[in-house]
Amino acid sequence: MDAAPTAAPAEDPPIHILWINAGLSCDGDSVSLTAAMQPSIEEIVMGVLPGLPKIAVHWPLIDFECGPVGGADTFIEWFFKGERGEIDPFVLVVEGSIPNEKIKPEGYWCGFGDDPETGQPITTSEWIDRLAPKALAVVAIGTCATYGGIHAMEGNPTGAMGVPDYLGWNWTSKAGIPIVCVPGCPIQPDNFSETLTYLLYQAAGSAPMIPLDDKLRPTWLFGATVHEGCDRAGYYEQGQFAQTYDSPQCLVKLGCWGPVVKCNVPKRGWMNGIGGCPNVGGICIACTMPGFPDKFMPFMDEPPGAKVSSKASGVYGAVVRRLRSITEHTVDQEPKWRQSGRTLTTGYRPPW
Ligand code: SF4
Ligand code: SF4
Repeated sequence: MDAAPTAAPAEDPPIHILWINAGLSCDGDSVSLTAAMQPSIEEIVMGVLPGLPKIAVHWPLIDFECGPVGGADTFIEWFFKGERGEIDPFVLVVEGSIPNEKIKPEGYWCGFGDDPETGQPITTSEWIDRLAPKALAVVAIGTCATYGGIHAMEGNPTGAMGVPDYLGWNWTSKAGIPIVCVPGCPIQPDNFSETLTYLLYQAAGSAPMIPLDDKLRPTWLFGATVHEGCDRAGYYEQGQFAQTYDSPQCLVKLGCWGPVVKCNVPKRGWMNGIGGCPNVGGICIACTMPGFPDKFMPFMDEPPGAKVSSKASGVYGAVVRRLRSITEHTVDQEPKWRQSGRTLTTGYRPPW
């Protein structure tokens, strides 16, 4: 007897990701994310991670949809759907800093799609006003979106700022989630893919509230300094400082800000453990920090605070190096009983 046809179980609706890269942005964070490996963006999108909800990504960088507002394959339509509440839940990702449109009444600094009613561009800040109240979470990707970054440096004409400056540092989503900031210029690829994955697991009820510090960064990624994870810190401790860029020694005198910068790149590497910054010879310019770039320029000068600490480490390091060289000489020799003579000299005593 044939089994009676049964209705297929209703699937949970996907979590949509609405990605606005139309802040003041170079799209470097979007490009960087394509290098993520743990997990890769393909693994997230294809839903191969156990327990992860299905997602639908509306990301200008990879989306097949394009075309004008109202066209057959309009990309922007997803954002209107988000505004109308037709895709729920969705996570709003913002890339690029937010210019101050209040100082630009005659035009606009940056926008994303046109308003069908007026035919005028919808500014990026207007999209945030429309979508943030309806989002499950708002995620700022890159230092521009998180803290303003390079576009918000002294002398800029746009009055640019980060998403927390725009929405308010105490803003929370309708699900009670604060703005999640993943800084970096650009983001370290896995730092962002991990954060996104965490939020998706949280949305699925499989993870507690994402832990963030007072600058809204995930604590497990930004809790330690560059220096604490730099494999040149041994040279620093021994007072050995590079004078030229081809040296393997500590780069602090050449401009490295690592001791006061919160970032995990030297410890994690850039892609698949390869690359980084001071660990591979590039000074840390503090690109993850809220004070970036103004508080760290000119980049290639020794940081003012480093003069005192490197001087102290230079004196202390000279003594430590001398003592270590004595021990090093001792442990660099094999014990004397390793020889081929006819007598055993290891100190072995037969137990019987
Ligand atoms: S290169 Fe920079 S981060 Fe590395 S040990 Fe020196 S000061 Fe610290
Ligand atoms: S190590 Fe410094 S320069 Fe490199 S990514 Fe981290 S904060 Fe930016």
